[in-house]
Amino acid sequence: MRLYEFEGNDVFRQEGIPAPDYLLATDPAEARAAASKLGLPVVIKAQVLTGGRGLAGGVQVASTPDEVEASTKRILAAPLKGEPVHRVMVTRKVEIERELYLGVMVDGFIGLPVAIIGTAGGVSVEKASQEHAGATISRPVPITTGLTLPEARKLVAEAGLAGADESQVAAILHSLYATFRKYDALIAEINPLARTPQGTYLALDAKLEIDDSSLFRHTDLQSTKMERLLNPLERKGAEIGVTYVDLDGDIGIIASGAGLGMATVDIVAGHFQPANFLETGGGITADLLYQTMDLILQKKGLRAIFINLYGGINRIDEGAKGIVRYMQEHRLRIPVFAKALGNKQEETWEILREGGVHVTSGVSTEEGVAEMARFLSGER
Ligand code: GDP
Ligand code: MN
Repeated sequence: MRLYEFEGNDVFRQEGIPAPDYLLATDPAEARAAASKLGLPVVIKAQVLTGGRGLAGGVQVASTPDEVEASTKRILAAPLKGEPVHRVMVTRKVEIERELYLGVMVDGFIGLPVAIIGTAGGVSVEKASQEHAGATISRPVPITTGLTLPEARKLVAEAGLAGADESQVAAILHSLYATFRKYDALIAEINPLARTPQGTYLALDAKLEIDDSSLFRHTDLQSTKMERLLNPLERKGAEIGVTYVDLDGDIGIIASGAGLGMATVDIVAGHFQPANFLETGGGITADLLYQTMDLILQKKGLRAIFINLYGGINRIDEGAKGIVRYMQEHRLRIPVFAKALGNKQEETWEILREGGVHVTSGVSTEEGVAEMARFLSGER
């Protein structure tokens, strides 16, 4: 999960990384008020999850209240690289003397975090390399010891910084690594880290991407994740513990695993338009499948449901009871098809058949979907 810049800014400041004060605004008048509180000139920045906002017009400097309104209006008016802009962040414009890049990220190839410092930071790498060819230095960090302050210093010194610059930037890199670990991040990045004419440093951008599989350890971020799931059905799915992705079609899909679910969506798409992707994960119970049926049927206009179950660790016979109970209580008017294989498959078939589900006789998903296609075409 990527955090918005302002969320990253909050985290940075909590963790001792100097970052500018900001105010958020959702319309030009609010931005104007924010600018008058912070003091002009200001920088107005689109709050979107895609990077490269500067080059795409999502970062603008405004020197008068009217400019603040005009820039905010322009930024909010159109999507930035396809992402709608609902909010801008307003900060006091900082004088930049020099821009650095600091980053910590997981290097999947070596299986370790790497700490990176670049002295050619900024919005345009080409321009920077014309002006002064900066150095980029990176170092794998042993996960057991982490990045110590002396090592951070060494890295920063190697990049050519000395004296007060060296100690300030080393302290920031050290905190950036600590933040990366504390938040179970995949990437923690400051680009640019600006040196002001007073010789102090400030993180003028904040990029933090959290590993989703660690969200159970970060209860505060779980609610952020929920808010990100703007589609109400996707949010409902996350609440009951399944992964739901809304699609455009009219065939509802339930699968007992992610790979099986993706294959099912692909194969159904060979004949029809899938209405959703849904995978239950390994925790199937009668209740969960009851709730899952309820979830996919909240989408109006479904023509049929295709259920694809594999009984490994999952008790698919239990799941079948939940499906059938739902169908009995709600008197479904659309046909439900199921392919079920694995542990307790015979029991599962029997429960489903007795409950009125068309259990496909084929053992492959292709055959199962083809049976559904024949059934539905005969129906019309
Ligand atoms: P990104 O393009 O999405 O990475 O957005 P950034 O937040 O990095 O902003 C783009 C560029 O705008 C930065 O690289 C800076 O050069 C510039 N910028 C951002 N904030 C300030 C500021 O306070 N003062 C000045 N002078 N430039 C800024
Ligand atoms: Mn940036």
